[in-house]
Amino acid sequence: MNIRLAKTAGFCFGVDRAVKTLEKESENKSISTLGPIIHNEFVVKDLEKRGVSVIDRLDDLASGNTLAIRAHGVGKSTMDEIEAKGIECIDLTCPFVKKIHNIVYKYYSDGYKIIIVGNKNHPEVMGINGWCENNAIIALDISDISGKIDSGEKICLVCQTTMDRHTFESVSGYVTSQSNNALIYDTICSATNERQTEAAEIAKDSELMLVIGGGHSSNTVKLTGICKKYCDNTYQIENFEDFPQNIYIPKKIGITAGASTPAGIIKEVIDKMVENINGAESFAQEFEEYEKSLITLNTRDVVKGTVMSVSEKGISVNLGYKSDGFVPVAEVTDDPSADITKMYAAGDEVEVFVVRVNDVDGEVTLSMKKLEMMKGAKEIEAAFESKEILTGKVIQVVNGGVIVSAKGARVFVPASQASDRYLQDLEAIVGDEVAFRIIDIKKMRGRTKVVGSVKNVLVEQKAALAESFWAGIEVGKEYKGVVKSLTKFGAFADIGGVDGLIHISQLSWSKIKHPSEVVNVGDEVSVYVLEFDKETGKVSLGFKKAEDNPWRKVENEELKVDDVIDVKIVRIVPFGAFAEIYPGVDGLIHISQVADKRIGKVEDELTVGQHVQAKVVEIDLEKQKIGLSIRALIAPAKEEAPEAAEEVAATEAVEEVVAEEVVAEEVVAEEVVAEEVATEEVAAPETTEEAVEAAPEAAEEVAKAAPEAE
Ligand code: SF4
Repeated sequence: MNIRLAKTAGFCFGVDRAVKTLEKESENKSISTLGPIIHNEFVVKDLEKRGVSVIDRLDDLASGNTLAIRAHGVGKSTMDEIEAKGIECIDLTCPFVKKIHNIVYKYYSDGYKIIIVGNKNHPEVMGINGWCENNAIIALDISDISGKIDSGEKICLVCQTTMDRHTFESVSGYVTSQSNNALIYDTICSATNERQTEAAEIAKDSELMLVIGGGHSSNTVKLTGICKKYCDNTYQIENFEDFPQNIYIPKKIGITAGASTPAGIIKEVIDKMVENINGAESFAQEFEEYEKSLITLNTRDVVKGTVMSVSEKGISVNLGYKSDGFVPVAEVTDDPSADITKMYAAGDEVEVFVVRVNDVDGEVTLSMKKLEMMKGAKEIEAAFESKEILTGKVIQVVNGGVIVSAKGARVFVPASQASDRYLQDLEAIVGDEVAFRIIDIKKMRGRTKVVGSVKNVLVEQKAALAESFWAGIEVGKEYKGVVKSLTKFGAFADIGGVDGLIHISQLSWSKIKHPSEVVNVGDEVSVYVLEFDKETGKVSLGFKKAEDNPWRKVENEELKVDDVIDVKIVRIVPFGAFAEIYPGVDGLIHISQVADKRIGKVEDELTVGQHVQAKVVEIDLEKQKIGLSIRALIAPAKEEAPEAAEEVAATEAVEEVVAEEVVAEEVVAEEVVAEEVATEEVAAPETTEEAVEAAPEAAEEVAKAAPEAE
């Protein structure tokens, strides 16, 4: 025979508290309870023997007797009357029920309509209704509230603590669908919930199910209903006298009991089963063993348990104690972004710290965080002594820095220590895993403040990288880098602990106005070393590839003198127009080659962006110059009159001066850039000559592209 007794069978927290208080207080007081303390006549009779009587009305209270309010609670008018009459009172209202009184009283006073999901004849419901002047709508199903709700009406819905979840969800769901201004309070007691869940589980696996409890006990009746859903062979008995006669006793028997059933009755039923049912002796042993197997629990114990269930609110843990423990989500981890439903699952073995035993929620409150913190504290101190590098997750921005969670500790990292560079927005690193060192541990008024530094580790790591970098650097060596920042004169790329400069002229074969036209911060780039200086730590990098040089196309004879090509006018200068042949290769149409007649201004004939056909009249690969002519396509060259030739010569002499001035101006412009680079302490040329070298395309382009001027 296999008999399972529900761990949640018997007195709940509220009833246990009430009965024990009465037992103790009745030792030196005459007490009367307003209604039977619980729905169990055995308990009531036992208390009677101790001098605790039951009265139905306040007026029946014998002079000198102390009044006890039972766990179900009473309405406000009764409490007011007790106070007005100066009656000595022990209020044993269960804290869960008291909480409902407070909700109802507050919202009723604020003008809300109160709905109670429950049985209108149940004393707990009657007591709750007494906190809204008995004006609540009491509903057991939708028909009780149908047509009684206006959509804009303010509604506050609470539930009898022992109500089954299905009824609560059905009624509250209907209220939510009818009103857009409803406050729904799930006030079903967790003890009830757990008892019902466990009863259902046991009933599913039992051939005979016994529910021990009084017929007036609402929660026992509900428990019986739940068990019947899963086990046809379910019997509700108040004691062993009710045990069904002449029934087949199967192998699998399940037992549970209502919240008002004392442990003594459960034991009596079991003992009598042992006497009367052949083979049930083993159950008595099982029960005794079960009781013995329950562990004792004290605050600050560290125990192991099994995860029963995980929700966003926390983790239920079976500890082998008479009640399950609960780890609130805030006690699971410090990380507010953590999803504990993904971190733990039912069946997991966990180690927990006992924060409180039998607290007001009737549960054992546990903490994983405190345990981790206790274990981590030693490791943190050791890491501080040894300067060991730890890792942790940035979980929060606080005043002056961030908090890193590591080894259960909250490590404060000042903003100045959060990186090796200035971080404008600390929120940007929240969620990052970081390596850090403990740089200080302060103990103040019983609290320990741990201070860490990410910068300390980064600086050290970079120094080690830089050392190996400088040992292996050579001109031409290729590196993979990451663009760290952009300035108007180039891009800085981290090539392994050292930042090198890719000058703007090295970024593209075409002329660009800003490095962002080619790269962006965070881009991975392939670069090669142009030059470096170990003493100053400066590295100049090349980025554009020789094979991408557009002059290769010209060299490979894709373009020949006398070719007629389509070009785009990209720039107009006093002595002609520059036209793009390929991206990065421009040719010059001299003013004398723009038309078949003399023209005053190039702009009279051409505009920037215009596409024209031109003939290649000169290619100088060495100087990278190409001369183009539109005139050559219009008419055969005419011999110019001597006067006209002289005029052209004179004009070209002037143009030569102008071209030289343009060259000089652009070189000066490059010098300015070079000076800016030097000012900003980067690897850039510092003299005028170096400036020209550093920006060869810019200076050469004008000189190359003005063949006539030369
Ligand atoms: S069932 Fe819950 S609410 Fe009711 S008395 Fe017990 S602990 Fe309190």
